[in-house]
Amino acid sequence: MTRPVPGPSSWSAVLVVRADERAETVPLRLRAVAAALVAARPALPLPHALVVVDDRPVGADPAPVDGPPADPPPLAPEDLVLPGAAADVPVTTIRTGGRGEAAARNAGLRSATTTWVVELGDGALTTGATDALVTTLAAAVADPGAAVVRPAGSARVVPRAAALAVDGYDERHPDPAGPRGAVPRTVDELLHGRLDPLAADLDARLATGTGWRPAVRAVLFDRDGTLVHDVPYNGDPDQVRVVDGAREVLDALRDAGVLLGIVSNQSGVARGLLTLDQVHAVNARVSAELGPFDTVQVCPHGTGAGCACRKPGPGLVLRAAAALGVAPWECAVVGDIGADVGAAVAAGAQGVLVPTVVTRGREVALAPVVAADLRAAAAHLVPEALPPLRAAG
Ligand SMILES: [Mg+2]
Ligand SMILES: [Zn+2]
Repeated sequence: MTRPVPGPSSWSAVLVVRADERAETVPLRLRAVAAALVAARPALPLPHALVVVDDRPVGADPAPVDGPPADPPPLAPEDLVLPGAAADVPVTTIRTGGRGEAAARNAGLRSATTTWVVELGDGALTTGATDALVTTLAAAVADPGAAVVRPAGSARVVPRAAALAVDGYDERHPDPAGPRGAVPRTVDELLHGRLDPLAADLDARLATGTGWRPAVRAVLFDRDGTLVHDVPYNGDPDQVRVVDGAREVLDALRDAGVLLGIVSNQSGVARGLLTLDQVHAVNARVSAELGPFDTVQVCPHGTGAGCACRKPGPGLVLRAAAALGVAPWECAVVGDIGADVGAAVAAGAQGVLVPTVVTRGREVALAPVVAADLRAAAAHLVPEALPPLRAAG
């Protein structure tokens, strides 16, 4: 008899929908997961939440303003529920745009909020697999100081905070052993059950406390409420009022050789409240006051259009990175609401929230990094660009 896992809120589950998977398989996989989790009670309490990471690709080209986006449609909300007795487990989804296994797992880690994250592998959660999960998760909870990745059948138990402190899985090598998992290469890997090079790499970096993420090469700013004061659906350049200090911060980043961009949701275009020409005219004024910007990316689609570019989707950030010739993990996103941080997480960029009075408290609480103003955000991302302010007097 194995020891039960304490606390239903101690763990979350992450399920990755691979780039080559079809949407139709998702409800089948969720049904199988739900049945296994329900059968494993009470030794394994139901997870706090399930994060479905949708890594099907999204296009690098802008989706058309009129007509359906070219990207595969998002997973249907009715498919993102756990049936039966697991129905109370909240299911959230994040779209990572086909960036590979490491990036998808990282988005799952960054989206979860619990101490332990269980990454569900390709294998079915048989009774034997859930028994292994109970044993492994209970051992992890009992030994919280040991920051290691614990394989449990085809699943893995990952200490979330420790993993994120070393930047999670190395996204520069998204699929080191091919898309369908690894072949053990050494006796050591066989003996220790490390059949997963990504997990083995994370484990090695957990032991040494080393992250993989290189320096920030591009900072992408939300426009409204971040660089300029928010005027809802503004189509009038004369209403542009830049945020105090923005010019100095942007110039300091430019002087440090950092590329700059704007990533902006403009659903007012889809709603017929302003034209794309008006958006361009306002952007031109923002550039005149704060520019030059190396790229400006706009999502003109509505909230229900299912495009992958509207933040918190990854599309605007991925497009900006492609336009700048940098990798997504070399980018950072600075914005004033949770959707900006969500887009950063989805695209694999660093995210910094600079709240305003209208930013929701929950979004502030969940943001990985919160800065008081643009200067503090930039100083966090590129310390050498902005030395600390000298104390007054
Ligand atoms: Mg904003
Ligand atoms: Zn869009």
